Amino acid sequence: MKALYFDEKLALRNDYPIPVPTENEALIKVTLAGLCNTDKEIMNGYTPFRGILGHEFVGVVEECHQKNLIGRRVVGEINIGCGECSFCRKNMKTHCLQRKVLGIRDKDGVFAEYTTLPIANLHMVPDEIRDEEAVFTEPLAAALNILQMVDIRKQDRVVVIGDGKLGQLIVRAISTTSCDLTLIGKQKEKLALAEEFSQTRLFDKNADLQNHFDIAVDCTGNKAALLYAGAIVRPRGTIVLKSTYAGNIECNPSLWVVKELKLLGSRCGAFAPALHFMQKEKIDLTKLIEKTFFIADWKEAFETAFTKGALKVLLKI
Ligand SMILES: [Zn+2]
Ligand SMILES: [Zn+2]
Repeated sequence: MKALYFDEKLALRNDYPIPVPTENEALIKVTLAGLCNTDKEIMNGYTPFRGILGHEFVGVVEECHQKNLIGRRVVGEINIGCGECSFCRKNMKTHCLQRKVLGIRDKDGVFAEYTTLPIANLHMVPDEIRDEEAVFTEPLAAALNILQMVDIRKQDRVVVIGDGKLGQLIVRAISTTSCDLTLIGKQKEKLALAEEFSQTRLFDKNADLQNHFDIAVDCTGNKAALLYAGAIVRPRGTIVLKSTYAGNIECNPSLWVVKELKLLGSRCGAFAPALHFMQKEKIDLTKLIEKTFFIADWKEAFETAFTKGALKVLLKI
């Protein structure tokens, strides 16, 4: 099968073996896959992963012992826990130390014609959700995870820093709390995409926003934004970190100590609330698609996806 394999460099292989599902797994024919900043960070050395890249997808089950799944459209949670450790038993498989992660850690990903996942990771896609929307389930779940981790009340002033792909989803997710929401970004066209859901502000480092917000969410992927978030959040406020970085941040954390800030990392989220969100809120996520490429044109797809300001790039498999 065709597969985009990463081994220090990314290359399209035409003769990669079709994966063989284990007894608990399904073989899934990938329909559409999404490029994500995590893919770029992996290519920059964020993890020592070697294998087929890609973790955001929608596909159709082709082989599986649970016969009612065959032929069904599915999306799949990307963390595969050992099933036995204390985290797995507490339903926190995203923190299992032995976990495999689709296209990120010890498990071939979805930039390929076929992939496999445990049946327990799969969610059937309701008919009214199109493939072009379903492919957003994973990043949308990550955005909605913020609502599980932080109690956002109507009277809270919340700022999302970063108007990119993830920031756009986060704004849509947080807007459902009816809080006082602001998106700060550097690109007018991207801010315009969020106006329906949030107040927007072009980033201006001289604007007087010191101590203005109760909660700040950083999803810029830009190391400087963390310090900025620390400045614009009020004492005893909360900073939610959504960016992963290849490399270190050098800074003096005294400001956070003095202001007694809460720093909260937030990663993956559950898929069921994300699918439910798409059904209920009827927000057109396809507006967040930059362009769809065939897998053969992967080079152009990656170039487009990682151009500054690009929205979601999809690969048609
Ligand atoms: Zn992703
Ligand atoms: Zn485990």
